[in-house]
Amino acid sequence: MKLTAFIPLADRLSRLLSRKHKLYFFALITLTIGLSLLEAVGISIIMPFISVAANPDLLNSGWYKTVFDLVGFVEKNQFILMFGVVIIVFYLFRGVYSLAHVYLVNRFSQALYKHFSRTLFNSFLSMPYKLYTQKNSGELMQIIITESRNASNLALEVLLGSSELFTILFVYALMLIMNWKMTLTLTAVLLVIIASFLSFLLRKSKAMGVKRSSSERQLFRILREAFGNFKFVKLKGNEQNILGEFTSPLESHSNTQVINNTLKIFPKSILEFLGFSLLVAAVILILLVYRDPARVIPIISMYALAMYRILPSVHRMLANVNTIAYIQVSLDIVYRNSFLEAEKEGTAPVAFGKSIRLENVTFEYVTGNTILNAVSFEIPKGQRLAVIGESGSGKSTLVDLIIGVNKPVSGTIYIDGEALTNDNIRAWRNRIGYIPQSIYLFDGTVADNVAFGSEPDEDRIQTVLQKANSWDFLSQKEGVHTRVGEGGIQLSGGQQQRIAIARALYTDPDLLVLDEATSALDTETEIKIMDEIYSNISEDKTLIIIAHRISTVERCDRKLRIENGGIEFARN
Ligand code: ATP
Ligand code: MG
Repeated sequence: MKLTAFIPLADRLSRLLSRKHKLYFFALITLTIGLSLLEAVGISIIMPFISVAANPDLLNSGWYKTVFDLVGFVEKNQFILMFGVVIIVFYLFRGVYSLAHVYLVNRFSQALYKHFSRTLFNSFLSMPYKLYTQKNSGELMQIIITESRNASNLALEVLLGSSELFTILFVYALMLIMNWKMTLTLTAVLLVIIASFLSFLLRKSKAMGVKRSSSERQLFRILREAFGNFKFVKLKGNEQNILGEFTSPLESHSNTQVINNTLKIFPKSILEFLGFSLLVAAVILILLVYRDPARVIPIISMYALAMYRILPSVHRMLANVNTIAYIQVSLDIVYRNSFLEAEKEGTAPVAFGKSIRLENVTFEYVTGNTILNAVSFEIPKGQRLAVIGESGSGKSTLVDLIIGVNKPVSGTIYIDGEALTNDNIRAWRNRIGYIPQSIYLFDGTVADNVAFGSEPDEDRIQTVLQKANSWDFLSQKEGVHTRVGEGGIQLSGGQQQRIAIARALYTDPDLLVLDEATSALDTETEIKIMDEIYSNISEDKTLIIIAHRISTVERCDRKLRIENGGIEFARN
């Protein structure tokens, strides 16, 4: 990895951050420069104090005299006392300043974490349904939770790294002032050393980061799949297999951490090894050439300054750079997923007084695999339409198009002659009650599940539950406050279906869509519910029913059969 690789990184950060974040960032950089200045002053202020305290006569000449005269004290002891007090106040200030700096930097990093996490969740929530069906929800969770955290740490590392950089620059300036020839020679040597292994190091760290990310995603995926199929896990008794599958990404995940933590220390080891070797070599060389021990002293003192003042900062900065390389992939991932294709929903109204009409509607999930091919038909308002056809023929797909969850690849859907577009799709969806083929109730009460985001009204909830024939079993439990468990696991399949029916009825929709909504019920309950739907519920509603059992749809006005991507109306 070259240093130029950091340019797109800055570019990405810039696109991801809001204006407020950028201002905050630059304010922090300024604070950071201040902190480095304080650090530089801090390490250079104590020596003069000790020198003066040990030898007050120093105040009679040079810089010391200038300052002493400026302050205007007569007594040297008073001056030294004041100098001491100034130093104490300075260190107190520096302590408070650096605490405040750490606090603000961490607040910034957490603000970024929240921002990234929310942006990602929003981006995932806004993506079209078709795109969602190609994703793995375990992986989406991993991105929202851990990649966003890493990406926000990256900003932290940039700040800490630049703090070290400024410290290096300030101390370096001091060294230049003290002895520029020696300093430049030293710099050249150190730069050659650093440059030679840095590029190797960064490449390695970046590769480790990519491995870390992909193994972590695998972990989330396996967890999600195991808990989502818990009954099968029990049935097959394959706990050990799953644990085995879990182990390999776990191993590789922890390996990357071990290697990365070691790589972080790598620059320190190399720099110290080479630094001290060079020092010894230089001393020996000078002794051999000049045979004069006195000449060695300035070199040693310069080296000591470099070693103890600059090198720790250099180490820390290289560790920061290394971490940046390691978690750079997180920023890539956050960036890529923050700007996914989003569904834009307008606020235009839609009137539904006459009909729904499909005109030459074609749909495919995967390019080239047409599920529906130029389908045209009309559903008059108030009609009860049955959709039949073999499994996999496209019944659910057709219904998803009508309710606006899928979008036609070509062709148009008209509501009262008005084309369904992004502008009015929200208004259209609000008119629809939908009972899906596979229900997923969320962990909460029956009331929560029935209202599902709409204003909860207990009487109303009870009414729709009664219509959906659920009140008998619920009244034996805790009524609308009965808990359903994750995915409705604490209810029977038929009970879940009836809750789903109640949910669809709750908003009093104009169009009611049942996709195999009663398939899990016994014949008697199904007849009761369908009776309720045909005679009471659907009075002023349009009804689309997908069902396998002929008895369920025999009271429909029309039957539409899907076959080979086309449709035909079966006679009643
Ligand atoms: P069933 O009676 O079994 O519910 P269906 O008629 O409702 O069947 P659909 O769910 O509409 O069938 O599926 C139609 C075809 O589209 C199937 O061949 C299915 O494999 C395919 N399909 C469904 N969803 C996707 C998807 N997200 N990505 C790719 N192909 C899909
Ligand atoms: Mg289906």
